[in-house]
Amino acid sequence: MTGKTEIYGLIGSPLAHSLSPLMHNAAYRAMGLNAHYTLFETRNLAETAKMIRDRGIMGVSVTLPFKQAVLPFLDELDNEAAQIGAVNTITNRGGQLTGSNTDWLGLLEDLRGRFEISGREVAVIGAGGAARAALYGVLRHGGVPVVVNRTVSKGEDLAREFGCRFLPLSEIRSLDGAGLINTTPVGMTPRVDETPVSRDGLHRFRWVADVIYTPLVTRLLREADGAGCETCNGLGMFVNQGAEQIRIWTGKTAPKELMRKVVTERLSGEDAGSMIQDAKLRS
Ligand code: NAP
Repeated sequence: MTGKTEIYGLIGSPLAHSLSPLMHNAAYRAMGLNAHYTLFETRNLAETAKMIRDRGIMGVSVTLPFKQAVLPFLDELDNEAAQIGAVNTITNRGGQLTGSNTDWLGLLEDLRGRFEISGREVAVIGAGGAARAALYGVLRHGGVPVVVNRTVSKGEDLAREFGCRFLPLSEIRSLDGAGLINTTPVGMTPRVDETPVSRDGLHRFRWVADVIYTPLVTRLLREADGAGCETCNGLGMFVNQGAEQIRIWTGKTAPKELMRKVVTERLSGEDAGSMIQDAKLRS
């Protein structure tokens, strides 16, 4: 790094296991950018917004728990982030902080080539930032989203906001022939034995996508595959949303294949490592 190195990073908490630095720094190196991506673990958004301006941080990704909470600390939102109501990308232009959302594009870029969405019903499980991105993306592609959530009041509010139907999670089996996107963290490492939808209801869905990518194959995807559904994990979404952030920040096209490769290699190593640890625990 030199004095001229452009600094980017990730804000949120906890961040220790994030793969964003690995993915972004591999892309910057391959693109020949004098740039570095680092972690800014924080619990205080006012201080973080000041730090971004004072230190001239060029851009940051935003993760849990700040995708909605960060909105009041920004100077403006682009059109898509304003409609989604959540931000995963901040760009600093001379101290002016603009919020964008690349999650919706990341997800839909991955889904639209595999599954028919236009005119089709798509159940979106969850009511957080990732659900907002999924609902917006499904609507933009002419699909008919249904909000499915554990907490009824949150799900109903979200469905009203996006002009779609709501179902409590306990009634998900009443859907038939829809696609399904899990946007909850249920099934994520280390709680890989959990799943948001029981196995016996899965054959009703045409396809099942999970925004989780740790592990690469969640229990939900494994059981959906067993029930005859087509499936898609969250890795493509992760790579696509990061590539779009790089495009917003630098105006250049990011090397998606390389980004996917470095993340897959790290995750495959971790999956293998956890399987070995699992085997030791069982023996
Ligand atoms: P969030 O704002 O905290 O929302 C989580 C949602 O999950 C809530 O609606 C919550 O339901 C539901 N939920 C949590 N635990 C549950 C349980 N045990 N049973 C049923 N529902 C449960 O989180 P988020 O920001 O939307 O992120 C969600 C997931 O998306 C995370 O795993 C994140 O890593 C992933 N993600 C992936 C990508 C990617 O690039 N692949 C991008 C963004 C996010 P209630 O309303 O009932 O509490």
